[in-house]
Amino acid sequence: MTRMTDDLLPALKRHFGFDRFRPGQEAVVRDALAGRDLLAIMPTGGGKSLCFQLPALLQEGVMVVVSPLIALMQDQVRLLEDNGIAATFLNSTLGGIEAAQRIQALRRGEIRLLYLAPERLLSPGFVDSFLQPLQETVGISAFTIDEAHCVSEWGHDFRPEYRQLSRLREWFPDVPVLAFTATATQRVREDIARQLALRDPALHVASFNRPNLYYAVKPRSGRAFDELLGHIRYNKGSGIVYCLSRKRVDEIASDLQAEGVSALPYHAGLDAETRRENQDRYIRDDVQVMVATVAFGMGINKPDVRWVVHYDLPKTMEGYYQEAGRAGRDGEPASCILYFGMGDIRTAEFLIAQKVHPQTGDPLEDEQRIARQQLRQVLDYADSSECRRAVQLRYFGEPHPGQCGNCDNCLNPRPLQDWTLEARQMLSAVARLAQRRQRYGASTVIDILRGARTEKLVSSGLDSLSVYGIGSARSQEDWRALARSLLQQGLMEETHDGYPVLLLNAASWEVLKGERSVRMAAPAAVPKAAGRGRAARAAAAAGVEPDSEEDALFDALRALRKKIATAHGVPPYV
Ligand code: ADP
Ligand code: MG
Repeated sequence: MTRMTDDLLPALKRHFGFDRFRPGQEAVVRDALAGRDLLAIMPTGGGKSLCFQLPALLQEGVMVVVSPLIALMQDQVRLLEDNGIAATFLNSTLGGIEAAQRIQALRRGEIRLLYLAPERLLSPGFVDSFLQPLQETVGISAFTIDEAHCVSEWGHDFRPEYRQLSRLREWFPDVPVLAFTATATQRVREDIARQLALRDPALHVASFNRPNLYYAVKPRSGRAFDELLGHIRYNKGSGIVYCLSRKRVDEIASDLQAEGVSALPYHAGLDAETRRENQDRYIRDDVQVMVATVAFGMGINKPDVRWVVHYDLPKTMEGYYQEAGRAGRDGEPASCILYFGMGDIRTAEFLIAQKVHPQTGDPLEDEQRIARQQLRQVLDYADSSECRRAVQLRYFGEPHPGQCGNCDNCLNPRPLQDWTLEARQMLSAVARLAQRRQRYGASTVIDILRGARTEKLVSSGLDSLSVYGIGSARSQEDWRALARSLLQQGLMEETHDGYPVLLLNAASWEVLKGERSVRMAAPAAVPKAAGRGRAARAAAAAGVEPDSEEDALFDALRALRKKIATAHGVPPYV
């Protein structure tokens, strides 16, 4: 049943009150109406719901929508009902009578959209005694799998039940399957198509550019909290502060409250009741700020979030993009700020090193490698002097010319400086090591340049190298920035020997021979979090703690820091 676009606009207006489609929506709607399987990838807030809701209204039969969260279903059904559209959900929150009434209404063909959790759909007898008969009488126009990345272990929200959804294909070979997600990585996309057994799906990939979002990275200093406070007071509107750990969420929320900010916490450690209440109050604009772990987000339909602050370094670029993307879903200007300090890197590295086999204690090398790679991408973003939008979109494989004019780097370009001398120092350190048939990662090379007296350097005789200590005038952060910049500019390579190691290439030799100069944006002044100053001590004490069971790891980290501090005769700073 194909329809002309001319018919779609009046229907869009009539049912939803919108005058035009958002980018990409119309093509998806048309393919859905043509009865094709499809995979639609559109950013959060891109308007995916409409892409299956409008076809549901223009086709016969009921559209069955699989959705991972009860809150998400209730939200969508309520919004549809507000638009006068007959929609319902069946889930465990319904009493027997209520459920029976809804089932009757479905059987009478009075309902256009039926929302189901996968557990319900796959529960014994549900298909045989309800869905099959429904298909034979009222008809099922299509199965929509919303948040389809839940089917993939490569995604960030894997749900084992989603895996079983491929059985829909066996049970209902003639009913189209429509998959929707905001997850942009190629691997997850392929996984979705395979796991759901999509049949020659029409692939729709909308742009991930969110032009209304302003992106900035700020150095985290000991005064980060005051800055956050200033940000909230200046920006007024609704916002989200993302933290990595439950403990940090609780602390920041109560510190904000103490400053008179209306803020509430949200994390998986709160009971369901409190979570729901806090979420409702936030959505109703009863409170201004939600301080949350990543547990807060999926399915929160609040279009007027004006800003998102990441108070801790996110673990992946994808995660950052999704969380920041909860701002400005209404298309109005909104801002996304990421705080970044050197302590974040150490914390992240520590956590990665803790990924070990629960029984044998052996490092989970694949997991560690992937996590390191993800960390590197986040650091490259945080540290970049390039257009933030260009860096993000490049990560998703989408080209962008840069110069978006709506990020800190575009509005305040950092001046380029000449770093040829330092670049030569770093490259010669790598060259000296190569002469000794040795390869090391950036941290060891930087330790050599700065003349650090670490046990590793001394015991392997690296302190006798001619380059030892030649770069002591520059800070570790400067050297890290240079290493990243050399890698980004292709003036040095990195490979893996179990851990990343630095290598020279032809371009490196041009620099070493003086045939080429090296320029780099002035490194951002990123203060140390783990120094011994008072502010730094406070920041370290607030220590980033990740959500969920990783909390225990931090006790280990504390113990370790204490041990090191005791061994070196300095007071423990945690
Ligand atoms: P997604 O599921 O892709 O994250 P939603 O479907 O929840 O996004 O839509 C996000 C917001 O955009 C909603 O508030 C929705 O009403 C609005 N929206 C969707 N399509 C349009 C449109 N064509 N015109 C205006 N607003 C739209
Ligand atoms: Mg959605």
